[in-house]
Amino acid sequence: MTDLHVVPLDDVVAHDTSVSGECVCGPTDQPVKREDGSVTWVAVHHSLDGRETRAH
Ligand SMILES: [Zn+2]
Repeated sequence: MTDLHVVPLDDVVAHDTSVSGECVCGPTDQPVKREDGSVTWVAVHHSLDGRETRAH
């Protein structure tokens, strides 16, 4: 159960954060530890505008 989403800002596509794992970018579920020691899952979305590979 993923209740948190990390979405790239100003991406070229609209990310679907309503259903976990159903977004077009294929988000990765990542475990994140809360302060009380419990673990929650965060869906990390990937930008589809190629910003990671863009030459600077
Ligand atoms: Zn997404």
